[in-house]
Amino acid sequence: MSHVALRPHHLLCLLTFAGRGYNPAFTANLEAVAARIGQGAPIVIVDGPDDICAPLLADRTAHCRHADVVARDRRAACDVEAVLGHPVEAGVTLAFDRATIARMRAAFAGGRLRSGCAGCGWGAFCSSLAADGFRAVRLHAADTRTRGAVSVGRR
Ligand code: SF4
Repeated sequence: MSHVALRPHHLLCLLTFAGRGYNPAFTANLEAVAARIGQGAPIVIVDGPDDICAPLLADRTAHCRHADVVARDRRAACDVEAVLGHPVEAGVTLAFDRATIARMRAAFAGGRLRSGCAGCGWGAFCSSLAADGFRAVRLHAADTRTRGAVSVGRR
């Protein structure tokens, strides 16, 4: 299965995606990305705009390229590294299996994966989803196999 390219803070956004987004094209694409990852597609970390940003990039002023969003990636990467115990940088491959998603959601709900969310307009919404036990979210791993959480190497 082909990989999904993701910038670090979108690892958090996937945990809380509940079918809402910036516009219909963005939301439909994110639904498809979440479905692919749930079916086992590996995630490859990238710097800057990624497969989730793609529908917004025709707009040259899209916030995806802004410095504050790049800074959000750095904060999110540090948090995810601390939770998973592995580097999160461009070229790293992550498998979002069920155990990894559960671990990350527990950390998100506990506040240990939230520094990347600072200043995000969706913050209260994502907090409410976490407080509700992530019942409304879209990403669910299709199986419980351990696919190997992380491998490191530039692609
Ligand atoms: S608050 Fe913003 S950055 Fe954090 S998970 Fe939600 S959408 Fe993503």
